[in-house]
Amino acid sequence: MSAMEAMSVRGVAEAMGNAAPTGQHQALARVLGLAHQMLEMEFAYVAALDGERQVHLAVAGDAESFGAPSVAAASTTICRLMVDGKAPEAIPDTSAIPAVRELPIVAAASIGSYVGVPIRFSDGRLFGTLCGLSHHRDDSLHQRDISFIKMLADVIAQLFESEEARVRAVDVQQQKLARVAHDLRSPLTAILGYAELLREHTTRQPYAETIASEARRLNAMVDDLLADRSDAAAERLPFDLTAAVRQQVEVYRGHSQTHEIVFDAEPVWTLGDVGKTTNIVSNLLSNAIKYSPGGGQIVVSVDRSDDDAGVLSVRDHGLGIPAYAQDALFTPFFRVASTASDGISGTGLGLALVREAARQQGGDVGFTSEEGKGSEFWLCLPAAPLGVFGASDRP
Ligand code: ADP
Repeated sequence: MSAMEAMSVRGVAEAMGNAAPTGQHQALARVLGLAHQMLEMEFAYVAALDGERQVHLAVAGDAESFGAPSVAAASTTICRLMVDGKAPEAIPDTSAIPAVRELPIVAAASIGSYVGVPIRFSDGRLFGTLCGLSHHRDDSLHQRDISFIKMLADVIAQLFESEEARVRAVDVQQQKLARVAHDLRSPLTAILGYAELLREHTTRQPYAETIASEARRLNAMVDDLLADRSDAAAERLPFDLTAAVRQQVEVYRGHSQTHEIVFDAEPVWTLGDVGKTTNIVSNLLSNAIKYSPGGGQIVVSVDRSDDDAGVLSVRDHGLGIPAYAQDALFTPFFRVASTASDGISGTGLGLALVREAARQQGGDVGFTSEEGKGSEFWLCLPAAPLGVFGASDRP
């Protein structure tokens, strides 16, 4: 069995068709449909080239007979050769070009002819490819004008780019809010504490009462800000990971009546950006709830690894992630298409941003998951330097 066959995503084509499409997905499907029509080939697709992988994001035509949609090692694809300038954009006969002919995928999926153009963002970044395949050799292909297909690739680039810009803008806003909320928390707690003390020892009780009630009001506003989820620029400062997680757990406990969020942890100090981390935690908790539509327990823990790094774990008992999709999960815009997740809205960008934010802080994220049983996502952040905190904080 070829690599492509082994990793092929059975039934995802239908599921993609069934999933409730967002405006952006609808537009993508329309543009891809147009490319498919123009190319007059058996199959057309949009794929992301995400580092080592090629991930089909949208397909049109006879995907199944080409073993698609799939997640494949990028180095095994014609697209990679085309993008690197080692194969032309239009290949009427794949057997005529040795580098292409030798790819196992060409024989395995019986690819006779190929057309592919890169999808690049306006800053030149390669996002992926727009391609067409047929099983038969197609001598008329070289005559066909692929400049129209390039235009369609530009339209697709704009679709993804504007969606990415929109989500990033929201993310930055949320990061700022989380930072502000987090910074306000400590002084407010102090004001509240002293106001309570003052009430007991002053003859001007109403004044002390006003200070206390206004501080409580500000505290409630901070809670609201935190409920909006957030984060900030990539700083690396020591902070209490457990406290940041606890805040988000409290926020999400209020979001769902059907989920029980279990959390108990000792303080664990890490080095990083509290705003970015808050946003990561928020994303992971939100996903754990969203992708456990039947409700159930979500277990959150914060621990230290052997090398003293901080490790957050969020374990749910929800839909889980099918094996085929696990390699592609952090690819921007990738969403698992399945009947179970139909109607669960999202952009497919959350986890990509989560990984980016974790790595910016010198950490990382990952997961283990079993379809139908649930998932466990983890975030790992570097240890805070010794000596920064008292013995009670860093035993
Ligand atoms: P979104 O939720 O907006 O689609 P994400 O990037 O957060 O985007 O997640 C990408 C995909 O990963 C989701 O569409 C979903 O299919 C899958 N996923 C993420 N978290 C979970 C989880 N806890 N359980 C099951 N599937 C998940």
